[in-house]
Amino acid sequence: GAKDWSAIDRAVYVHSSTNLQQHLVDGPMVLTRGEGVRVFDGDGKAYIEAMSGLWCAGLGFSEKRLADAAYKQMTTLPYYHNFQGKTADVTIELAERLVALAPKPLTKIMFASSGSEANDTAIKLVWYYNNARGKPAKKKIISREQAYHGVTIAAGSLTRLKAIYDGFDLPIDRIRHVGCPHHYKLAQDGESEEQFATRLADELDAKIREEGPDTVAAFIAEPIMGAGGVIVPPATYFEKIQRVLKTHDVLLICDEVITGFGRIGTMFGAEKFGIAPDIMTLGKQMTSAYAPMSAILMRESIFESIAAESGKRGTFGHGYTYSGHPVSAAVALETLRIYEERDILGHVNRITPTFQSLLESYSNHPLVGEVRGEGLLAAVQLVQSKSPKKFFDTTAGLAKYLVARGHEHGVILRVLQNDAVAFAPPLISTEDDLKQIADLFGRALDDTLKVARE
Ligand code: PLP
Repeated sequence: GAKDWSAIDRAVYVHSSTNLQQHLVDGPMVLTRGEGVRVFDGDGKAYIEAMSGLWCAGLGFSEKRLADAAYKQMTTLPYYHNFQGKTADVTIELAERLVALAPKPLTKIMFASSGSEANDTAIKLVWYYNNARGKPAKKKIISREQAYHGVTIAAGSLTRLKAIYDGFDLPIDRIRHVGCPHHYKLAQDGESEEQFATRLADELDAKIREEGPDTVAAFIAEPIMGAGGVIVPPATYFEKIQRVLKTHDVLLICDEVITGFGRIGTMFGAEKFGIAPDIMTLGKQMTSAYAPMSAILMRESIFESIAAESGKRGTFGHGYTYSGHPVSAAVALETLRIYEERDILGHVNRITPTFQSLLESYSNHPLVGEVRGEGLLAAVQLVQSKSPKKFFDTTAGLAKYLVARGHEHGVILRVLQNDAVAFAPPLISTEDDLKQIADLFGRALDDTLKVARE
């Protein structure tokens, strides 16, 4: 007979970002099949995937061309590494393609398997680079409150979400944090977006001066914060931030793990916000999540320094067994071909007004304080009261209830920061898919209002 996946799961499986004690009671949500923008559980119940899994399955859940590309590579050269000068041909092809696609100042690329590894790699590159240019004391990395850059010990230190760092004795040494650019929640009374951006840039400037510019190596930022709440920064934020970084010779690492590959209507978030990164990290939609792969791009000048340094030391001792994995590379190349052939970027821009206005239509709902987003990335902020602005106690669990109701109605959503609901539908979603997402969300929102009023 059919196996009891729920019982087996509870007996042996330790889940990520899950209340493990509660999980023993609730059991897992087990998906068995995917088709287009939908996934199905063992009973055949369909869920429309409004989160593309973890903001990553851009081409949905049944793109045969990606399976074919993986099969073809697996039956040609299933594995090779990139240590000691070796590599697979397909990985070089991908490197060339990504460098051509990347924002201008970035000319060299490394690979890894996850966003966390990519951000760890970025930190090590920065440290190695500053050793190479005779600045061994310039090593601190500044991140931001509510940032999400991964969970490995370094990336998990950059991450500033309590649910992620709590209990793990993080951050490690040399990591600092400054404020999050969420105007709706964090601006002072009467402060304009412009003034708020200025205050945050001033705060960064003061932080660098306080630490000592000779000790600060880099600043890392997601163009739009994802897990921290889909936080779209004020229009002038990055311009002001970049001015401060230039003044103090501090590098800018742009984490495009979510925003890369068309998610917000430009190929990269850097284009949308006028960011000229020194280092950029990519992941997720690079392979449409069909195979694990991430990348780290850097400026030519950074490469030149680390190349010279590795000449002196004898080697550049960083990289993973699966860096540049040929199966992932083949899947990434095919993903990029599909994005181009089907003009996914054009499609995202054509359906964005529908998507954003469908969600915007809930801004009159008593529970909704703010609807924010760009492209196919959005969040709905739940509030206890709109005026005066009052946020739910983050332990209230209302957003969690909403997402659970959404599951019952057949849409997969995600809770952010305990009081917002995230949306990142597959890039291939149709207007009808988006209408269904918005409609099912609306039902869950109304269910939640009933509970909130009790
Ligand atoms: N950076 C950002 C912006 C992310 O959203 C994530 C994951 O959600 C990561 C890095 C870490 O990626 P991974 O989970 O592949 O390690």
